[in-house]
Amino acid sequence: MNCPHCETEIDEHEASRCLDAWVAKAVMDELALMSPSPIYVGRFDWVKKGDWYVASENDSPYRVPYYSVNIAAAWEVVGHFSERQYHVEVWEEDGFD
Ligand SMILES: [Zn+2]
Repeated sequence: MNCPHCETEIDEHEASRCLDAWVAKAVMDELALMSPSPIYVGRFDWVKKGDWYVASENDSPYRVPYYSVNIAAAWEVVGHFSERQYHVEVWEEDGFD
């Protein structure tokens, strides 16, 4: 399976906004769009041109969560799978050298 944005293989894709947008669309069922220009997503927050945001009919647009580098956002993905009865196995390692 290749990234729909950059064509990188899933196993070789580095953590990036591109990967975050792929997760948003493919896993989280969000409508992730690349911002054609800076857009306002909160009282004091803007999405830069070329970054990814989620468009919603009911809510204000918001920045695509940093699923690939933010552990809290990554846990949202795990929760999303669990809610849909997918078996999620979390591996733990004893540190890195
Ligand atoms: Zn990509």
